[in-house]
Amino acid sequence: MHKRYEVVVVGAGPAGCSTALFLARHAPSLVPDLLVVEKARHPRPKPCGGGITIIGERVLRHLGIRWPMDDVPAVWIRRMRLRYDTQEFTWDVPGVFRVVERPLFDAALVRHVRAAGIEVWEEAPVTRLERRDGWWVLRTPRGEIEARIVVGADGSNGIVRRAVVPQGKARRVSRIVEVWTPATDATGREVHRGKTALFDFSVIRSGVQGYVWDFPMIRDGELWVNRGVFDSRVWPGRPRANLRTEAERMMSARGLRLEDYGLVGHPERWYHPRGVYSAAGAVLVGDAAGADPLLGEGISMALWYGETVAPWIVEALERGDLSFADYGRRLAASDLGKHLTLRLRLAQFAYARGDRFIRFWWRWLGRFLAWYAGRVRQQMAEEGLGKE
Ligand SMILES: Cc1cc2nc3c(=O)[nH]c(=O)nc-3n(C[C@H](O)[C@H](O)[C@H](O)COP(=O)(O)OP(=O)(O)OC[C@H]3O[C@@H](n4cnc5c(N)ncnc54)[C@H](O)[C@@H]3O)c2cc1C
Repeated sequence: MHKRYEVVVVGAGPAGCSTALFLARHAPSLVPDLLVVEKARHPRPKPCGGGITIIGERVLRHLGIRWPMDDVPAVWIRRMRLRYDTQEFTWDVPGVFRVVERPLFDAALVRHVRAAGIEVWEEAPVTRLERRDGWWVLRTPRGEIEARIVVGADGSNGIVRRAVVPQGKARRVSRIVEVWTPATDATGREVHRGKTALFDFSVIRSGVQGYVWDFPMIRDGELWVNRGVFDSRVWPGRPRANLRTEAERMMSARGLRLEDYGLVGHPERWYHPRGVYSAAGAVLVGDAAGADPLLGEGISMALWYGETVAPWIVEALERGDLSFADYGRRLAASDLGKHLTLRLRLAQFAYARGDRFIRFWWRWLGRFLAWYAGRVRQQMAEEGLGKE
């Protein structure tokens, strides 16, 4: 007889932790029947810039998690510079996002999950997943377990997604690569103005459907600079830009050589309102479902997924209808789904054509951003968000 759980969450990243925490909040009686299984042991390495916007901060706050969050080092971004060629806009919204030391952030989330009384297995990869007599049977190194509901929070290439969407389209996937460089040069001079993030969209001219970035980050408690290239591929039929070449160019423009540092990357799935995100007894959240194709913002979206879908899972258990037949539709109609759809449309628009198109719109973007920055500042002040 296998051990049985009502809900098993596969993956203890931001999406899995958020889903587990909100499940416990909505249905405390579910906690003994809730399990989170994680392939790695936290803190685990993770290629990621670690930027969390006020969207994520809001969700954390709903969970009672505030900054400073446990022992998680973070840099507070006050100023964003958005560049296309020689035209640049500066967007001053102190606290609009902060950059966390990602492995420690995820490890802190897992501690919160355990503190809520939820069982977490680490170093327990799910290696097989199949449907038997109305239950999901999951194989792990600790033996087989059965789940009435499986939540796939196992990232872009996860096993749950492959079980839920066997013929899933691999084409809705962005490419992201990053490199970490010291914040000071050999003479100790600062090479990066702290608390400023730069997003440079000039690479659209070379066929990248995205931007290059640099912003400060914390690594092992020290200030570093995180630089990278995001290619959304919202137009998957177009030729693929060479991201290594773009990264080399970006580094040499800053007097650095890519070969002196390691370039790491990972695909990131993006959300589409008509995507398939569920099967009988199974739902996908976070990168396993799809994040933001405009900027590649995935952490805050992953947290938001948990908050959005946990009540639906509880409702399904209460009603005894575990088909999740309307999951995709509900997702599309939710605030999260609408927000991601808006970002998808903006990405399709922004990355649609080349130089002349973007040059034309860039002027209008400046005006829009000035207005939008004011709105965000006001919202943050009203909600008390973005405080150091
Ligand atoms: C280079 C790069 C930079 C990025 N920078 C940013 C940024 O600055 N800001 C931002 O918001 N987003 C960023 N992202 C995106 C962000 O990292 C992801 O969107 C985010 O991690 C998604 O969270 P998640 O919980 O869905 O998945 P993940 O964080 O990938 O977590 C999935 C978890 O599932 C576990 N798992 C996988 N398979 C199994 C299995 N079979 N059994 C058990 N467990 C399993 C994994 O070990 C992992 O812990 C970046 C991504 C990349 C590649």
